[in-house]
Amino acid sequence: NLDEKIDIKGNYEIEEIGTAFNHMTDKLERIDETRRQFVANVSHELKTPLSSVKVLAESLLMQPDAPKELYKEFFEDISQEIERETIIIDDLLTLVTLDKKENELNVSETNLNILVESIMKRLKPLADIKGVEMVFESYREVIAEVDKTKIALAITNLIENAIKYNKEYGSIMVKLNSDYKNARLTVEDTGIGIPEDSVNKVFQRFYRVDKTRSRETGGTGLGLSITHQAILMHQGFVRCSSQVGIGTTFEMSIPLRRPLAEKNES
Ligand code: ADP
Repeated sequence: NLDEKIDIKGNYEIEEIGTAFNHMTDKLERIDETRRQFVANVSHELKTPLSSVKVLAESLLMQPDAPKELYKEFFEDISQEIERETIIIDDLLTLVTLDKKENELNVSETNLNILVESIMKRLKPLADIKGVEMVFESYREVIAEVDKTKIALAITNLIENAIKYNKEYGSIMVKLNSDYKNARLTVEDTGIGIPEDSVNKVFQRFYRVDKTRSRETGGTGLGLSITHQAILMHQGFVRCSSQVGIGTTFEMSIPLRRPLAEKNES
């Protein structure tokens, strides 16, 4: 009868609402956990250089008659740790700025060939130190409507990593291309590579395959999260493929034009 049918339907709907509610709670819990993890990571990363400074300062205080050279050496170490702290804070600030929902893209027509070449020119001295050769290949001019500063940041991080994690006298191939819709950039290196189980984690904040090595090269583990965030803001994607001991390729793709709705808003 009708009453029974309504009752069954009603029960069914309540069950559906219940399931949706559980999904929502699960999602909120996951967001909360990610946030907790992030705060824990930030605290840890910021504390590390500070702990070193503390140890260095305390050991100097305990040896008032230490020779001048020792003082100088310790102060240099202290200065380096402070420098590292500054780099971490700068990266964090960049990430937080990119994270803000209301953050608008400052879009302009940008010649990506010129942008990539200028970034490579700026990074050449870093590559030269390791004897790494950088080659740029592009068969067409790629003009895209992008936020130049943010895309420059994303590309810089990819090329900087390709240098940092390369072998001595290794090489880097940067290729720029486009179809009618998207610009595509690949950065391929002949470096140390990334183990299979880490490839998908490198875009996570503070994730580093080898903490000691990354620390030595001045890494904060935030570079690729910044790249990822900047590209997501452009509705593009970035992915990574790698073979340990052979090399790594990062591929990024961004739409050449901004969606119409967004254009009308501004
Ligand atoms: P970091 O500041 O440590 O370089 P990133 O977020 O830029 O942080 O990169 C995260 C980790 O991914 C690095 O610590 C490194 O282990 C790995 N990685 C990134 N790029 C490369 C690359 N081109 N070759 C090998 N490993 C890489």
